[in-house]
Amino acid sequence: MTSSLFSVLFAGALLLTTLAKLWLARRQIAHIAAHRSAVPQAFHGQIDLAAHQKAADYTSTKTRFSMLSSLFDAALLLAFTLGGGIQWAADLWQHAYTSPVAQGMAAIVLVMVLSSLLEMPFDLYRTFVIEARYGFNKMTLGLYLIDALKSMLLGAVIGLPLLFGVLLLMERMGENWWLYVWGVWVMFSLLLLFLYPTFIAPLFNKFLPLQDASLKARIETLLQKCGFTAQGLFVMDGSKRSAHGNAYFTGFGKSKRIVFFDTLLARLTPSEIEAVLAHELGHFKRRHVLKRIATTFAMSLALLWLLAQLMKSGWFFHGLGVTTPSTALALLLFFMVMPIFSFLLHPLTSAFSRKHEFEADAYAAQQTDAGDLSSALVKMYQDNAATLTPDPLYSMFYASHPPALIRIGRLQTL
Ligand SMILES: [Zn+2]
Repeated sequence: MTSSLFSVLFAGALLLTTLAKLWLARRQIAHIAAHRSAVPQAFHGQIDLAAHQKAADYTSTKTRFSMLSSLFDAALLLAFTLGGGIQWAADLWQHAYTSPVAQGMAAIVLVMVLSSLLEMPFDLYRTFVIEARYGFNKMTLGLYLIDALKSMLLGAVIGLPLLFGVLLLMERMGENWWLYVWGVWVMFSLLLLFLYPTFIAPLFNKFLPLQDASLKARIETLLQKCGFTAQGLFVMDGSKRSAHGNAYFTGFGKSKRIVFFDTLLARLTPSEIEAVLAHELGHFKRRHVLKRIATTFAMSLALLWLLAQLMKSGWFFHGLGVTTPSTALALLLFFMVMPIFSFLLHPLTSAFSRKHEFEADAYAAQQTDAGDLSSALVKMYQDNAATLTPDPLYSMFYASHPPALIRIGRLQTL
């Protein structure tokens, strides 16, 4: 491989993935527009035309905006790599620090801070224009800025020591550094899973124990029936930021918590809440959570090994616009460029995710009433203005959940 050949390969892959993203988005918008005039037969009487059209418009607006942000992301990546942005960020610290680890950290932090600042206008537009136009945004600009500041501080407190450790291992551990880094990464991820529910999530939201005694009793009966132990049932003030609703589990082992968004509790009946919870329990019972964690760990081992091979070659650096190879720049380049080459894995990971959703639905239908789950889903589609008629190919590529018609159709047969 020569540097210029690798540059051509990279630019070609970037062009192809960007075109593929734009093409899929165009298909999605066209498909939604073609089905905008009528509510699909299966949802007659449950979703009215106005709600259906709001979902169509909201989804199209978001998809159209995602086309713009895909173009911007591609341009930014080009500027950082072939345009010499990363090399510039590295040169800036050449005289400020003598240790390669400190130089590397400074370059990585600068590139990350710059890209998040440049991405910020897109996020602001999404939140304060698109989400606001459809009545979903509940955030003030003040809260947005406080969130951003908190995330940045949290990123620094957690991320900087991790980055320092990783770079040190890469420098000092010889040929097999990737095994050591992987070990640190696995421990760090597990630690984060433990810390998240009790220390990190409360920095952003309030979690109050579920008060409603009758609902609590119903849920506890369901948990017992499913042989499930959780440390508590909590209600999160999701309405502080957005009108979108959700329910989830955090933590693992005995420290599992069940969290309901207040927005969801306000909308669903007790039996629908039970059905949604049974679906989430299904993810645990069918070991989806464990499988997902195991897959992530296996993938990261493979990626670190790949990085160890790539950084031995000059073409990897020079082909991506870096003239002073170093371990830190290898790490940075690898994680910036990798999504371009792994884009084609999307349909595979989405298919696995949809398979898990079907299994969790089947579990919920066994433990509770399938009709309750489907009426809860219909309310959630409506409240979140999720389209009922996505483009099949777009869904196959990206959707983590089965399309509404197929999912509800399957529930009716259970
Ligand atoms: Zn699910």
